[in-house]
Amino acid sequence: MTNAPRSAADDAPLRLLPKVELHCHVEGTARAATVAELAAKHGVPLGVDDPDDLYTYESLADFLAAFATVCSAFVEAEDFHRLAYEAAEDAAAAGTRYREMFFSPGFHLDRGIRFDTMWSGIVAGIADGEADHGVRTRLIMDIDKPKGIGPAMALLEVARVADRDILLGIGGDSTERGVDHHMFEPLISEAKKMGLKTCFHCGEDGPAENIAIMVEAGVDRIDHGTRLLDLPDLVKRVVDEQIPLTSCPSSNVELNIVESLEAHPFAKQLDAGALVTLNSDDPTFFRFDLADEYERVASAFDFDEATMLKIRDNAIDAAWLDDSDKAALRAELGA
Ligand SMILES: [Zn+2]
Repeated sequence: MTNAPRSAADDAPLRLLPKVELHCHVEGTARAATVAELAAKHGVPLGVDDPDDLYTYESLADFLAAFATVCSAFVEAEDFHRLAYEAAEDAAAAGTRYREMFFSPGFHLDRGIRFDTMWSGIVAGIADGEADHGVRTRLIMDIDKPKGIGPAMALLEVARVADRDILLGIGGDSTERGVDHHMFEPLISEAKKMGLKTCFHCGEDGPAENIAIMVEAGVDRIDHGTRLLDLPDLVKRVVDEQIPLTSCPSSNVELNIVESLEAHPFAKQLDAGALVTLNSDDPTFFRFDLADEYERVASAFDFDEATMLKIRDNAIDAAWLDDSDKAALRAELGA
């Protein structure tokens, strides 16, 4: 596969539009060629002859298995540096200028990788990526929901040592199936006490009730929130409080969460007044980038330029920046 898959000309207006992305996993930006090279370097079996074959799935469960395999190729700090640096390089090609990006320690700690190893590598990689490619990146530490509240709270303890200018918040990721989201209420409350922002993947492969639980728990953003419209009272609250949704419509289509982009509730959520944003989730895994996502969504819903600008500006509003930083970003991006 190519490093930065494109479906439109490099000078297409939506590709050139300076963008903000709030839902992208650093491991989900791993280039197949990089994964193959690092796996060979470390003698890690990938289970496929062609690394491109890792990036095929029909469900979130398939995807998560591939995600774990890809993670296994990253061992040393310099590997994580390369991962984060290439993420910035590819983001620049999509017009991304500011990104709040997840990293998932659970997938690495389990393999005996130290937190310091991944953290120092990723932090150095985003710094070099910003210097060379002009993409400013801040981080969100993701906990793996199916592991339960114990490992989640342990990770939060680990996060106390992280540079808080770089680590803005924590998130919860992975499948919702068989996961009682009420268990994460203490995690959200403890993270808030630490001054961290919080977000949770929910209403993706689980019901809108999971969104309601996490909103009640006090999260600052909902990741996906695809099922939001199933609960009208919840829609009212999410709209009234302008709780942002980091939507990933094409990811939802790729993982058979929704049938097609046209059938995705994104346009109805926008119409309802929700603060929806557009995001790539795991760009190399799905073979598209954020610019492609803007183009696909504009085409699927016949959105005009003003609507696409509004969606881009929503991401600035939803970013975890203080008011002066947000004003500076608005000025820089011409919002
Ligand atoms: Zn995600």
